Amino acid sequence: MLKYKTVKEVQAALKAVREKKQTIGFVPTMGALHEGHLALVKEAMEDNDFVVVSIFVNPIQFNNKVDLEKYPRVIEQDIKLLEEVGCDLLFYPEFEEMYPDGEPPEVDYNVNGLDKVLEGAFRPGHFSGVITVVKRLFEIIAPDRAYFGMKDYQQLLIINTFVKNYNIPVEIVPVPTEREEDGLALSSRNRLLKPEHRREATLLYEVLKRAKIRSGFQTVEDLKRDVVRKFKKAKYAELEYFELVDLYTLKPIVTWVQSSHVIALIAAKVGDVRLIDNMIIYM
Ligand code: AMP
Repeated sequence: MLKYKTVKEVQAALKAVREKKQTIGFVPTMGALHEGHLALVKEAMEDNDFVVVSIFVNPIQFNNKVDLEKYPRVIEQDIKLLEEVGCDLLFYPEFEEMYPDGEPPEVDYNVNGLDKVLEGAFRPGHFSGVITVVKRLFEIIAPDRAYFGMKDYQQLLIINTFVKNYNIPVEIVPVPTEREEDGLALSSRNRLLKPEHRREATLLYEVLKRAKIRSGFQTVEDLKRDVVRKFKKAKYAELEYFELVDLYTLKPIVTWVQSSHVIALIAAKVGDVRLIDNMIIYM
């Protein structure tokens, strides 16, 4: 696997790839890789001749400084996993390489307002930071396809809308969520959970599954109340939001017949680790 920290080196390597008329698949990550990330890499390897993974803990998408400091960094382990899976090139720049002029300002990109709700409402500036880094990475790598996990559904939808609205010639490919055996969605943050918190973290998956089963039988309002009640009974888990929304507009649904595409999204803190998950209820 080629490993580079500078834009110059990456671009020289990719020039040679393009000259051979090979397609480039790209997987942006923040490292602390797990099977969820590797599912994206494997999918990219199936669709493309050459696969690039980036690892960059992007400070401008963290609205919480403690969260940024605590974010796991295990680059040696990550390199090993990427070599095993057969990734072609790793780009793992330092801050100065990504942002030579210092921290870029917050930008209000036009993504049809999708960045203003849910995660956007709870994490001010988060999506501006995400779009800024993805835009910069796309400019550096110029991939044919880029792979994003359904686990961060709102992010996936926003990136998809961003490339359409700004005519960026990259195909965005969604990849289903990888889960632990008990349903907990794989996340780099899971490794920060204390054992007793880890046990209770399955509550996110449990309420999503219940929402799927109960949809149509219970009113949307009753279902949401049930979820709030379940979290009130929990010892460590604290609900931030549980919303049922239209899959494409993210507008809340009030009745089950209101939309033919519905997704449930949840965010909760377990101990001091913030987790998100989602499940398509129907489409
Ligand atoms: P991150 O390193 O958290 O920024 O994630 C990098 C990419 O991996 C994003 O597109 C995520 O949506 C995706 N990802 C994270 N966790 C999972 C998972 N459990 N299953 C599938 N994709 C995931």
